[in-house]
Amino acid sequence: MFDLQNILRPNIKNLVPYSSARDEFKGEASVYLDANENAFGSPLEQQYNRYPDPLQYQVKKRLSEIKGVPPRNIFLGNGSDEAIDILFRSFCNPGVDNVILVPPTYGMYEVSANINDIQTRKVTLTPEYQLNLEGIAEAIDKNTKLIFICSPNNPTGNSINREDIETLLANFNGLVVVDEAYINFSRQKSFIQELTEYANLVVLQTLSKAWGLAGLRVGMAFASEEIIEVMNKVKPPYNINEASQQLALQALQNIDLVNVWIKELLAERDKLVLQLKHLPFVLDIYPSDANFILVKTTDAKGIYNFLVEHGIIVRDRSKVDLCEGSLRITIGTPEENQKLLETLQLYK
Ligand SMILES: *Cc1c(COP(=O)(O)O)cnc(C)c1O
Repeated sequence: MFDLQNILRPNIKNLVPYSSARDEFKGEASVYLDANENAFGSPLEQQYNRYPDPLQYQVKKRLSEIKGVPPRNIFLGNGSDEAIDILFRSFCNPGVDNVILVPPTYGMYEVSANINDIQTRKVTLTPEYQLNLEGIAEAIDKNTKLIFICSPNNPTGNSINREDIETLLANFNGLVVVDEAYINFSRQKSFIQELTEYANLVVLQTLSKAWGLAGLRVGMAFASEEIIEVMNKVKPPYNINEASQQLALQALQNIDLVNVWIKELLAERDKLVLQLKHLPFVLDIYPSDANFILVKTTDAKGIYNFLVEHGIIVRDRSKVDLCEGSLRITIGTPEENQKLLETLQLYK
């Protein structure tokens, strides 16, 4: 049986979190002399002289309306990369515990594991880029705390079979982290709806991709109240700055525009796939549920360099296991995609 208390690090279980001035006084007052801020203001038009809300309530309230998840089940991080790091720091004992990764997948899981001195056990995806459930079951031991599943997966673009993720959720006594950075582009439904079903589920999403706010650094984790409480205790007190909170809140009012862009992007993706297929050096294009495609070519390095010479940068993934010869190409504006295509047609 999954029990969060069994996987918490002892030092985190006993941690007394930092208590900020804003934690200690939560009401409204006319004079704030409690946080050593500059009461004169900021040397800017916008005023940022006050510390931001540590728990980002306004942003969470709006996200809650959009996602259908109560604010108490939402954690906000300085990008979802911060949420990944905080999961390691909350649940994995350095030098003792391990996590399961299923490459080819997002590179930050491994970097974060290495920074935290946590062993990674890699169970490569099948040639169809799906989970090897038997391999995962064999790799799990009593010190396995987290399994990271990216769906739609980066860099392959496909979604991971839902039943397989559910099998892990139902049988693993650690946390299953489902990274949905690209879910807005997918035909699959989010795992957010399953939070009430599985106490060991953490869903990661971000404002960096479909929402067009990579520069603001706002990522989300959705999980049980118990898990979110732990993450809030471990995070830096003011991890989302005031400017990011205000701008994220504004952007979250503009969901209609984002949905228009998503539709347009998906149409562009399908168009680009059709056109790329005709190029002689393109061997295969994997079906994508994301805003990028993985294109298998005869000569990834040569094409990459040729594109760089023409001012176009794509991601060379040809050194990655199961991605031999492949380039990962983000879908751009119609003009950018056209330029990419015209340039590729010049490649010999
Ligand atoms: C881009 C990406 C992220 C990072 O998101 P941030 O919120 O910008 O930190 C997380 N996971 C995957 C799979 C990504 O591709």
